[in-house]
Amino acid sequence: MKTRAVVLRGTSTARPYSDTRPVEVEELELGAPREGEVLVRIAAASLCHSDLSVVNGDRVRPLPMALGHEAVGVVQDTGPGVGRVSPGDHVALVFVPSCGFCGDCAAGRPALCAQAAAANGSGALLHGPSLLTDAAGNPVHHQLGVSAFSEHAVLAQESVVPIPKDVPFTVASMFGCAVLTGAGAVINTAALRPGQSTVVYGLGGVGLSAVLGARAAGAYPIIAVDPVQEKRELALRLGATHAYAPDEAARQIRELTSGGAESAVEAVGSPKVMAQCLSAVARGGKVVSVGLPAPDRVLEVPALAFAGEGKSLLGSYMGDAVPRRDIPRFLDLWRAGLMPVEQMHTGTLPLSDINVAMEELASGRAIRQVIDTSGMLSA
Ligand SMILES: [Zn+2]
Ligand SMILES: [Zn+2]
Repeated sequence: MKTRAVVLRGTSTARPYSDTRPVEVEELELGAPREGEVLVRIAAASLCHSDLSVVNGDRVRPLPMALGHEAVGVVQDTGPGVGRVSPGDHVALVFVPSCGFCGDCAAGRPALCAQAAAANGSGALLHGPSLLTDAAGNPVHHQLGVSAFSEHAVLAQESVVPIPKDVPFTVASMFGCAVLTGAGAVINTAALRPGQSTVVYGLGGVGLSAVLGARAAGAYPIIAVDPVQEKRELALRLGATHAYAPDEAARQIRELTSGGAESAVEAVGSPKVMAQCLSAVARGGKVVSVGLPAPDRVLEVPALAFAGEGKSLLGSYMGDAVPRRDIPRFLDLWRAGLMPVEQMHTGTLPLSDINVAMEELASGRAIRQVIDTSGMLSA
């Protein structure tokens, strides 16, 4: 079948993206679902900073690639051997198609699945090579097994999590990456307890989701740090108890927590901010690294902080989440009013405006823009 999809053919840092147009909407051929795969009509796909990192080359991926990895859709068809979902089911899409069998999956850390990492790294699907071809008949890679800025997508059944049909698509679209990663970082990786202090550096979709997770976990105080005033104000509405610009954050954190926070979340992807997080936590404190720095960046920190002060630095990919456990759980928190993710929604755009949306995100003006990929949001 044909599908209109957003394709990246060469990395670009030339701004503004709204003028330089690093990606274009192309009509691709999408193969039918094979054994263990499902065809999904994409209902809503959010633009995430990791998409920009592929565009600007910070995340090195095989090109050309059909982008988009944070989305929700409706199952249209299933290949042989699919028992987990049926046509008509609403599904959140997950960017790590955990196999369920490898050592990491068996150990309860599906975000680290070796099979999924291999498939994602090569731009393939978990069960086979790319199903996307361009007008010239050449293959186009899948982004993280999802490629959601498209009318339709075929995914491994391991890439979808069924969700209740009453959750609005715009809300549900954010749970597969931003919410899973940010809320997972504080709930799963930092394992926050009620009354524990935490700091979140970087208030994009993932950082704000960490604020939401910290609030749901009963943390106090929840200190949000970002240079953009509008983002700090939004963090306060989402449950942060205090918010500061980076230049005043260190002093304020020391005062509020009598010396240092019990945990800090780095959602920027900057070694400099990771070092600031390490000095913002108290003796015994945990720093959770969730932002993705470019692969050539190096972290330099006081080496004594670990053995000497009992601090730890924890990496958190996809919020150490178990998607089939955590997405329904976080949706329950949303339903109860405890995780109001809709406040992160900063606009809905058609597929053809993808370069405009990228510029809005890159400039810091937008948090989560939702792409109306197949007309289901405007219908
Ligand atoms: Zn993402
Ligand atoms: Zn696995």
